[in-house]
Amino acid sequence: MAYFQGERVSTYWAVVLQEAYDQGVHFTVTSGQRTIAEQARLYYNPPAGTPRVAKPYPTAPHIRVGRQDHAIDVASFDGGETRLQAWLRNQGARTSNPVGGEAWHLEINASDLKKLYNRFKDPFPGYPADEKRWLLEYDRLKAANHDKNRRQVLVRVMTEKRKSIWHEAGLTGWHKNNRIKRYASLRARTK
Ligand SMILES: [Zn+2]
Repeated sequence: MAYFQGERVSTYWAVVLQEAYDQGVHFTVTSGQRTIAEQARLYYNPPAGTPRVAKPYPTAPHIRVGRQDHAIDVASFDGGETRLQAWLRNQGARTSNPVGGEAWHLEINASDLKKLYNRFKDPFPGYPADEKRWLLEYDRLKAANHDKNRRQVLVRVMTEKRKSIWHEAGLTGWHKNNRIKRYASLRARTK
C-alpha cells in the first residue's frame, strides 16, 4: 500500500504513476484503492452529485482486496486520463475504461501492471543518492557497452566509496545504514 497525489493506491500503481509523472505526463488521480468501509459510505450515503459506486464487496474494482490491479479514477475533463492511458499503452500495458459514461475510471491488465512495476521500481532502495546515480549510470553504460572512459571514472569513485563503507563498518558495524547491500552492489562492479 502506498500513496500517490494523496490517494491510497497499491505499491505497483504508485511506482508506475510516479514514473509517468516524472516523465512529464500531466494527470490527477482522484480515487485509488478503497476499503470496504469507505466504499460502503460512498454506496449508502453518496455525496450530492457524485456517480453511484459499485456495491461494497471485496472484489469491487476499487477494492480488490489483496490485489495490486485495482481501478483508479483519473480526472478526465482536462484530458489527463487520456494522456495517462496513452502513456500506459505506449509502455505496452493493456488498459480500458469498462464503465460506460465514466471516462475517468481506468483499469489495467494485472500482469502488465506488474511488468511496468518491475521495469520502473527502484533497484537500489534506500541507497544514498550519489551511489544510486553511479550504479545506475554504470549499469546503463555497461549494458550498452558504451563510454569506457566514463566507466573507469565511475569504477574509481565506486571503489573509494566501497572502501569507506568497509572502514565505517569496521568502526560501527555492518548492520547499519544498509552497508551490507551497498557494499555488495559496489563490490560487484569494482572487483
Ligand atoms: Zn472508478
